[in-house]
Amino acid sequence: MKKLLIALALIPAVAPAQSTGRYRGPIIDVHLHAHTRESLGQPAPNPRTGQMSPKTAEEHMTRSLEIMKQRNVVLGIVSGSSVAAVEPWDAAAPDRILKGIGGDDPSKFMKPEDLDRLFREKRLDAFGEVAAQYAGYSPSDPAFDAYWTVAEKHSVPVGIHTGGGPPRTPYTCCPKFRLKLGDPLLLEDLLVKYPKLKVYVMHAGGFFPQNALMLMTMYPHIYVDIGALSWTPIAGDLLEPFLKEAKRRRMLDRVMFGSDQMRWPEAIALAIDRVNRLDFLTVEEKQERQRREVPRTHLRRNRAASPVGGRREPLSLAEPAQP
Ligand SMILES: [Zn+2]
Repeated sequence: MKKLLIALALIPAVAPAQSTGRYRGPIIDVHLHAHTRESLGQPAPNPRTGQMSPKTAEEHMTRSLEIMKQRNVVLGIVSGSSVAAVEPWDAAAPDRILKGIGGDDPSKFMKPEDLDRLFREKRLDAFGEVAAQYAGYSPSDPAFDAYWTVAEKHSVPVGIHTGGGPPRTPYTCCPKFRLKLGDPLLLEDLLVKYPKLKVYVMHAGGFFPQNALMLMTMYPHIYVDIGALSWTPIAGDLLEPFLKEAKRRRMLDRVMFGSDQMRWPEAIALAIDRVNRLDFLTVEEKQERQRREVPRTHLRRNRAASPVGGRREPLSLAEPAQP
């Protein structure tokens, strides 16, 4: 079961009988956020529903885990700004959580050698969300090189933010934020420099869907997630045209489900329901692949040799198929 995978996996049409409807099988959410008291901030209304965000980081975690359980999300990669943010999630739901760490400004992030040690000690499973755009960096800026080197060495998934942010971002949190820094084509230099880096492009390029599709075409080993596209008002109608074009180009098997619930746990359910309403995807395209096809899926959790409860190996993105 733990080896079966892929989320609400959006898969090429392989089944002879095409059927539409709701997918009820296990889901993997590769884009979740964990918070500390500082990163959660004051309660704020969900931009779609108006529901206020939880008052504490613990409540945010507990509610998120409840919804994951209710909605059959069997595995989630949760990103925090520190190990302290994600460890409570792992303690509360060790079989359901993989721990990621992210940041935006390499000059303020932990040292590369500390990141290296955390991966070596298996205290982290993924690197991301790396939101360089918010600190005014291109993800290919050399300031990130030492971190990409560490992630490549440990062969961990690397989630890189692309697209945009909430309206007025440069006037509020992040004066160095620029829209142009969300262009997924800015990943190209790092993909060339670190060809073994297991990159997934978060938000599927957001406001730059065509560039994300171009990048996926040129670099067949990369994946994308649809975090935030499926529920935030600012994403508008970006999701459907992106998925239709990915389907037309037979690249749905590299599109992963992600909610990006941010501060609002209920967004996990909103995101799942939105994908389930897409009538141009068959149920088969919304479901996970069968076990025999795992080597070709996006995510692989290397637990086969471990007894239940044994040492956890990092989740890794599958190796690219050889041409
Ligand atoms: Zn993001």
